[in-house]
Amino acid sequence: MTAKEIRNAYLKFFESKQHHIVPSAPIVVKNDPTLMFTNAGMNQFKDLFLGEAPVKYKRVADTQRCLRVSGKHNDLEEVGIDTYHHTMFEMLGNWSFGDYFKKEAIAWSWELLTEVYKIPKDKLYVSIFEGDEKEGLPRDTEAFEIWKQFVPEDRIILGNKKDNFWEMGDTGPCGPCSEIHVDCRTEAERNAVSGKELVNADHPQVIEIWNNVFMQFNRLKDGSLQQLPAKHVDTGMGFERLVRVLQGKASNYDTDVFQPLIQFISKKAGIAYGVAEQTDIAMRVMADHIRAISFVIADGQLPSNNKAGYVIRRILRRAVRYAYTFLDLKEPFLNQLVPVLAEQFKGVFDELQAQQDFVQKVVLEEEVSFLRTLATGIQRFENYTKKQGEALMAENAIELEKSFEDAWVYSILKDQMLISGEFAFELQDTYGFPIDLTELMAREKRWSIDMAGYNKELSKQKDRSRAATAIDTGDWVAVHPDLETEFVGYDDFEVPTKIIKYRKV
Ligand code: ATP
Ligand code: MG
Ligand code: MG
Ligand code: MG
Repeated sequence: MTAKEIRNAYLKFFESKQHHIVPSAPIVVKNDPTLMFTNAGMNQFKDLFLGEAPVKYKRVADTQRCLRVSGKHNDLEEVGIDTYHHTMFEMLGNWSFGDYFKKEAIAWSWELLTEVYKIPKDKLYVSIFEGDEKEGLPRDTEAFEIWKQFVPEDRIILGNKKDNFWEMGDTGPCGPCSEIHVDCRTEAERNAVSGKELVNADHPQVIEIWNNVFMQFNRLKDGSLQQLPAKHVDTGMGFERLVRVLQGKASNYDTDVFQPLIQFISKKAGIAYGVAEQTDIAMRVMADHIRAISFVIADGQLPSNNKAGYVIRRILRRAVRYAYTFLDLKEPFLNQLVPVLAEQFKGVFDELQAQQDFVQKVVLEEEVSFLRTLATGIQRFENYTKKQGEALMAENAIELEKSFEDAWVYSILKDQMLISGEFAFELQDTYGFPIDLTELMAREKRWSIDMAGYNKELSKQKDRSRAATAIDTGDWVAVHPDLETEFVGYDDFEVPTKIIKYRKV
């Protein structure tokens, strides 16, 4: 099945179960002081779960474009290094607003995966919430009993609060989750070591694909749990991961979701994909980041030095530097990927094609601007680490001829390999290197940054980017009067919800 067919099959399946198919909400969240980007399918339904907006359709499904680069969900460091975390990804979701509950949700997810998509049953593991006595949270025996009708008991895993319990904030709607994981290893590997041990253990071939959240409680201020009068289902399945499983690939990047981009990059760089780890990572990062960049711009957020705008500028600069350093792409190039992407998303998210020229122009301008200082910044960085490294060797009486990357030299120097806060700040201020880019470059050489020193420098200057990642710390902070917000009106969206606008004051 192609990616398009897989997406359509999902929507068609839930349509056949009387779900109303709604469009994706924009990836950029406006008017919510607690969230910058959509990070899950359910964000656009927040007010329905809170009982603050009327429910128009009790069953809804969609594919939502999501971004996980800040706040509670920040997968940026994983991207390109592992094969299944992206910055921007599609989350397929189905919802019940006070309608069906665990029995149907579980049965349908099983039916879809094993009968429509035909994933072999013995490759699937499911997890249920084990309970947490200290927190007064009961085990989800209900889900356990339902799963037992489909899955042998030894494939049902008990999961902890971190993986298997969802809550909006300290108070409000919450409930247990039940997740589905696929063991993509070869049969021989599967026979040798049980996949059960590998679930939720960052194994590259045993991956989580689908989360079913059952919202059944309301947590009160005193910490106690109340049953919600109307129970809800909220599910999210990683589309790119699903495609990878169904196309039998070892990596999301080997699927037809990413290959058009990777092939384009590989051709332009004159380097084959799959030949060397470093160039592969660079191609994956570029293919990933251009998706985040393009959709954020298409949804109305331009790169800038503040907040959401700075988040996207940072991602863009990160991609440019990967291309420059590892693929020897020294001219603006990222922007050329925009039409490839727009073509791919035709009929899915047409927003991109409609604004293709504009998005491409913005990316080009950003590239041109960063490429003006990138080479000098990299040179400054190289000189700095070389000089500091030599100074450290001298201080520690190590002969300069010894390679400073030797294991034993490193073992002596590792705690001293610190880049000063002043220098990291200078790279940012003069050459436009966001701190996470400098951190990344430092990490590649096994250096670290004196962050306390950097922050000191930062606070000396009234820094415009300081708030960039500070806002979203949870899925939401329930907005109430003692959070400093000002009510500024309502907005009607096409989705069956009313979004209440707040402005941070
Ligand atoms: P993981 O444990 O792999 O980081 P998660 O538990 O954080 O995933 P959920 O919040 O449960 O993810 O989101 C629902 C689904 O979205 C996941 O089961 C997964 O398939 C997908 N997903 C989550 N994060 C990413 C990502 N960064 N890139 C691609 N897909 C993702
Ligand atoms: Mg995660
Ligand atoms: Mg998880
Ligand atoms: Mg999960």
